[in-house]
Amino acid sequence: MSFKLAIVGRPNVGKSTLFNRLVGKRLALVDDQPGVTRDLREGEARLGDINFIAVDTAGLEDATDDSLEGRMRRLTERAVEDADVCLFMIDARTGITPVDEIFADILRKRADQVILVANKAEGRAAEAGVLEAWNLGLGEPLAISSEHGEGMPDLYSALLPISERF
Ligand code: GDP
Ligand code: MG
Repeated sequence: MSFKLAIVGRPNVGKSTLFNRLVGKRLALVDDQPGVTRDLREGEARLGDINFIAVDTAGLEDATDDSLEGRMRRLTERAVEDADVCLFMIDARTGITPVDEIFADILRKRADQVILVANKAEGRAAEAGVLEAWNLGLGEPLAISSEHGEGMPDLYSALLPISERF
């Protein structure tokens, strides 16, 4: 048995960068039917000796037909309901935005378990943003850099007790 981790957060925080790092070339499912928006990408992910299914909430960036907020809400709620654990990502360089607060609300209401991650945390420019993330009330923010691969041991430590339940 493995568990399903949904990576959620507003556009441009680095969700797909982390997804690609965790999944590598083991992309299991891509919906490439014409006319169907690729809202969710799923793949077999690995971090150290932990194997799991990762879900990238892609497609928000292409929202044109509908209000971005409505679409984000529905997509996030769907991902949250389907996942065992949610990785909620914020951008440590920009700090917490009103859109991040919307996501935090959804997660507080719907998610069983949330791992809060402050991405783009390489370098000192990100320190204030990591501290700000404590204000979301979702526990300790893990400072990571998806692009540079930093903070992966902390993410491993957060996932380990979850993986032991499955
Ligand atoms: P998504 O919209 O949340 O899926 O974000 P993407 O993964 O597409 O990344 C958005 C932008 O942030 C891209 O230009 C990435 O190269 C950049 N990015 C992602 N992770 C990091 C990081 O750890 N540090 C920095 N500085 N940039 C990053
Ligand atoms: Mg993306």
